[in-house]
Amino acid sequence: MTEPFKKSKNGLYFIDRWEKEAPGLTAGFTSKEGGFGRFNGLNMAFHVKDDLAGVQKNRIMVGEQAGITADNWVGCEQTHGIHIEHVTKKDSGRGALDYDSAFSSTDGLYTNDSGILLTLCYADCVPLYFYDNKSLRIGAAHAGWKGSVGGIGPAMIEKWKEEGSRMEDIHVVIGPSICGDCYKVGKSVIDEAIKWYGKDEMKSFLPVSNEPCTFYFSLQTFNRDLFIKAGIPEENIQVTRLCTSCSSDFFSHRRDNGDTGRMISFIGWKE
Ligand SMILES: [Zn+2]
Repeated sequence: MTEPFKKSKNGLYFIDRWEKEAPGLTAGFTSKEGGFGRFNGLNMAFHVKDDLAGVQKNRIMVGEQAGITADNWVGCEQTHGIHIEHVTKKDSGRGALDYDSAFSSTDGLYTNDSGILLTLCYADCVPLYFYDNKSLRIGAAHAGWKGSVGGIGPAMIEKWKEEGSRMEDIHVVIGPSICGDCYKVGKSVIDEAIKWYGKDEMKSFLPVSNEPCTFYFSLQTFNRDLFIKAGIPEENIQVTRLCTSCSSDFFSHRRDNGDTGRMISFIGWKE
């Protein structure tokens, strides 16, 4: 499978095929290249005790590169839950240049409006991107292990179905995040993941030899499996090979021992 993300010369990763297929759509992921603030890179998050003015500057810069200015962004206070908000143009600016106005306890966003950029923060968790090429609905969700096993991916699909989306029109991308070789988890995580699988199905985790009750867990494969179970055609699902822990291009919560910056995923219709 070809890599869905292509790095631009300004250091951002864009979803290549969507940008080509859908004029006006901007969708991608930031790296840690460039930027201001205490993490020595492009930290995009307000909640990691960084310099506020530095984060604002980083956001303004990315807004120019992504084609939707930072005052028209929407952001969330993310809590590893599965709450999803339908946002409209009137929400523009919430959580854009400050944290207090962000949507509280929200890990998924979608819209039909243009001129608004949906953003979510990450350092290893999985960015999910959604695009319905008939209704032109777009969305994003933050899926760490909790959101993933909680089913935030299928929850977004369910909402879109209620709004009239057909499965064959929905396209999804699973973005840069910690890979299955870098991500070891305990049995309690696997106990939740396994509930989604039938007995003889291929699973997205493997036991670690010589480490009892420890597993390598591929959150990318897991989310892909859930999309297929939700009815998304396989050919509509693209999965990245970019790992936030393997690649020094990204902040990684695990690799950097917890104290690190955040990238954002972004998706929006330019006006
Ligand atoms: Zn990795």
